[in-house]
This record gives sequence, structure tokens and C-alpha cells, in this order.
Amino acid sequence: MGKIVDMLFELKEYRYVKPFRIAHNVADSSTNLEVTLILENGVEGKGEAAPSYRVNGERIETFMSLRDFILGEIKGLDVRNYRVIFKIMDGLRCAPSVKAAVQYAVLDALSVECGVPVYQLLGGARDHVETDKTVGIGTLEEMVEEARKLWREGFTLIKVKVGEDLREDIRKLEAISDATKGAKYIVDANTGYTVKEAITFAREMHARGIDVVVFEQPLPAEDIDGLKIVRFNSPLPVAADESARTRYDVLRLIKEEAVDFVNIKLMKSGISDALAIVEMATTANIGLMIGCMGESSLGISQSVHFASGTGVFMYCDLDSFLMLEEKEFRGKFRRDVNKLIPT
Ligand code: MN
Repeated sequence: MGKIVDMLFELKEYRYVKPFRIAHNVADSSTNLEVTLILENGVEGKGEAAPSYRVNGERIETFMSLRDFILGEIKGLDVRNYRVIFKIMDGLRCAPSVKAAVQYAVLDALSVECGVPVYQLLGGARDHVETDKTVGIGTLEEMVEEARKLWREGFTLIKVKVGEDLREDIRKLEAISDATKGAKYIVDANTGYTVKEAITFAREMHARGIDVVVFEQPLPAEDIDGLKIVRFNSPLPVAADESARTRYDVLRLIKEEAVDFVNIKLMKSGISDALAIVEMATTANIGLMIGCMGESSLGISQSVHFASGTGVFMYCDLDSFLMLEEKEFRGKFRRDVNKLIPT
């Protein structure tokens, strides 16, 4: 039997190795919530929530107060009937990352209970995924140096943060691509551009032959009309991240034909909405990538298993654990340079 009898909430702070700067935002640390579900037979399942105020409107300070309520809703339920628990957690709209952590902890407990890794419970489509690594906003010289280092380490897909200064961003991408010939790039403006700036940026990349495979979130999250204009005037594939939090956001993006790609993050949608988005996007022939917030190795494990199990992600941006100071690696996966292998 896989009945839930208890659940522990614990806060953990992780410092970034160096401050992580994106358009109009900088992070020094990530305070995450660790969830441990305990089953009647003593089996434990773990999940991690990495909250985002900027994207989800979440505050970590509110998380501890949710524990008793959530436990009250799911206590006595069996993790084998995980859809029942997922449905209950869908009601927790105020804290999508907590929904993700609890839903994942349910799958993790089920996985231990059955002796089958989560990625195989989810379908076992692939036995590994490949991640990019991100270059945050800095001076042109700092960004080129960082990109060169990643390219030498073996990261063939490099994510570059832009969105504060169009002309400067174009110069940075030009310099980075000169220093890392053969690499592919995901460029993420984190809502920093206007429609005209976004179209200009995309055309300049294309004209210079810079291999940008995804142009992420050029516009403010709510500007779906603008996103559609960018999509149809951009030679680069356009992705929604901040605009695509729940299954309902993605349904609208698909109906409006506003994007080429959706960036799924478990921290925005939980497991249940991520599964729904996978089905909608693959059916509508929209490309998928998977990203992260400030997850430690424990939290990234969730996305490694999700991405490997479903096997639908063209690009993975699961690098936060490489940017945080962590005393102990706790993910259920191995890393070989850019390969993440679920275990
Ligand atoms: Mn993004």
C-alpha cells in the first residue's frame, strides 16, 4: 500500500556561485522548499520547489503555512492513484512550485514503492537528455569569456541572456559566435524588448548567420498579440516562457498561433499541467523546450526524469544546479558534461 501518512516541509538556501543577472533582475541566492512525503510503510518521496516571484508571484515566506492544508487534503490517499492527488494539487494556484514539488514527491514515492525510476513511470522515451548552460548578462568581455569556457567544456548549446540594450545585445551575440564557432544558441530576452526591437534583433541574427535555435520571451508576459507579430516577422523560432505558465496559457498561445516553441518549467506548471502541455504542444506541432528556476540538484532531478520519460523536448535548459553552491549532490541522475542521465 502507498498511503500517505505525513509530509515534511523544509527551507534550504542556496547561493549562486556568482550573481545571476537577466534583463532587469539579478539573483544572489535561491531559497527552496524541500518536500518529503512519508508513506504508511515508511517509504519516502522527495520533491523540491524553487519559487519565483517575478514569474509566478510566489513568496517563499508563505510556503510553510501551506503544509497543514495540503497534508489535510492528501493524507490517507494512495500514491498509486496519483492522478487523484494531482487533481487536488491543481487547486493550489497560489504556489505552482509547491504544487510541482508535492506532485513530484508523489511520483518519487511511487517510484521507490514500485522499484521503477520516475522517468520510466512517465514512459521511458529516452535514457538521457542534453542540457545547455547559460551565460548571464555581463559586459561583452565577460560574456564572451564565459561562453568560450562553456564551449571548451563541451556545451554545444549555449543560452545567452539579453534584453537590456538591443544594440549592445547584437554586438555581444556577434562576439560570442565568433569565439564559439559551431555552437548553437538559445537567446532569452526575459520580456525585455518591444515588438520592433525583437524583430530587429531576430533579423540581425539571421543576417549575420548566427545559429540562434530559439528566441525566448522577447516581450512582456501578457503581450500575446505582440508575440504573434514577432513570430510572423522573425526568421528565428520564437518561444514563450513567462507567457506560458499553465495549460490554459499554452492553449491560448496555440489558438492564437503566437509561438513556435513553449518553454515548460515544472516550477510554473507542476507535473499535471506540464503533462497536459506536452500533449497539447505535440498535437499542435509546437516545439518544446524545458527550463528551470533556481532548483538544486534535487529539483533538477525532477526535470531530468520528466524530460527523459516524455522524450519530447528539443532543447533542455536544466543548468541551475551548476550555478548554485551545493554541499552535496542529491539528484537521481548522473552528469557527463552536458548529458544528464536519470538513475
Ligand atoms: Mn526564459
